[in-house]
Amino acid sequence: MSSEAPVLKLYNTLSRAKEEFRPLDPANVRMYVCGPTVYDYAHIGNARPIIVFDVLFRLLRHLYGADHVTYVRNITDVDDKINARAAERGITIRELTEGTNKIFQEDVKALGCLEPSVQPRATEHIAEMIALIEKMIAAGHAYAADGHVLFDVPSMAEYGRLSRRPLDEMIAGARVDVAPYKRGDMDFVLWKPSKESEPGWDSPWGRGRPGWHLECSAMSWKHLGEVFDIHGGGIDLVFPHHENEIAQTRCAFGHEAMANYWMHNGFLQVEGEKMSKSLGNFVTINELLHTENFGGRKWPGEVLRLAMLRTHYRQPIDFTVKALEEAEASLRKWSAQIGAVSAAPAAAGEVLNALADDLNTPLALASLHELDAAALDGALKLFGIDICAYRQWVEGETKQAVDAEQVSSLISSRLAARAAKNWAESDRIRDELAAMGVALKDNKDGTTTWEVKR
Ligand code: AMP
Ligand code: ZN
Repeated sequence: MSSEAPVLKLYNTLSRAKEEFRPLDPANVRMYVCGPTVYDYAHIGNARPIIVFDVLFRLLRHLYGADHVTYVRNITDVDDKINARAAERGITIRELTEGTNKIFQEDVKALGCLEPSVQPRATEHIAEMIALIEKMIAAGHAYAADGHVLFDVPSMAEYGRLSRRPLDEMIAGARVDVAPYKRGDMDFVLWKPSKESEPGWDSPWGRGRPGWHLECSAMSWKHLGEVFDIHGGGIDLVFPHHENEIAQTRCAFGHEAMANYWMHNGFLQVEGEKMSKSLGNFVTINELLHTENFGGRKWPGEVLRLAMLRTHYRQPIDFTVKALEEAEASLRKWSAQIGAVSAAPAAAGEVLNALADDLNTPLALASLHELDAAALDGALKLFGIDICAYRQWVEGETKQAVDAEQVSSLISSRLAARAAKNWAESDRIRDELAAMGVALKDNKDGTTTWEVKR
């Protein structure tokens, strides 16, 4: 870290306090974020952790150097929801997960997110999962019963430290899964048997598949080691998912911690209501980008991203058309202000200080108005907001709004008029096109190209 770099502070769910961030190894800062289960389009709520932790990834790269940060975001490609959906659609599991993942990658790219250093798939880490279970059994923290392997919750004295839930609540939560093979009410599944028709892998406990929680313990171990720096996800994952990840990893390796800093983003609502298919306010990233289903128009990724970052990541966020319009107004203003400047990501001090204070993006955005064009461009890059990409989107959309066929037919008529030296007619057509917002460029080779001016 250079001497003038601000001190990074992060709110740690483990301690319920903001703490100074001290990586285990500043030459390799390691972060894991729970990624999507690829059975359907990702919704705009799913976009929140993706964007928030992308900002943190960018900040860590800025502070420690781009080659000194490893960011792992997994792809869950084995899950009962996946099996059910593939059967419903009459396609193979592989077809479903490949197709969904491809769309997911396009969506998050449009949101301006960098690719994580590694995007491991659960199905490629079955050997690590089996090895983890064997370690837990050997250490007396797991048991096999009836084709299943379960984690023995009472064997871990510190179980519940992250979520701090009262015991009776945790038991009530776990009772959803009452099963005869469970020794204790809270014990959770590490491995379960698969039917012929279900995906399965051979294991010492028979053909089966992993429990969801185990996947993240295996993938983080493989790519980040037994203990790493930051683990992130949405607030809904604190219990049981993250509590169980911690139990598995700590009990397999015998360390005091799985990750030192646990970070959780708040939940997103749409127009003041919990997003749900039944309420009809369920909105995917893909339809925001490519359809007119939300607010009657398409939204560029830069607007979606900025709208997300105007609220602090730990606060709940209300995702509304009005908020998108406000974000767009800011982008338009910045676009005009920046003009033709193209700056290297010079980080403005105020912006960096705000981001280093537990990712205070609203404060960082508020300090942008004091910057000159070059500093503004640099600061926006730190947020992952690319003004050029935004401009290109605007140009593309405006061009589409103009009837391209009509434009080319007018251009041909104008070329014919010019060939006949009918300058008055040629100028009249040029004016007609200008009134449509179309600007012409006569090329040396005799052709005419056009673009839309706003
Ligand atoms: P899921 O596909 O439900 O496992 O969610 C993937 C990620 O999106 C997890 O980190 C969740 O916590 C997060 N997430 C899901 N729904 C929302 C929401 N409405 N608001 C914010 N984050 C969410
Ligand atoms: Zn996870």
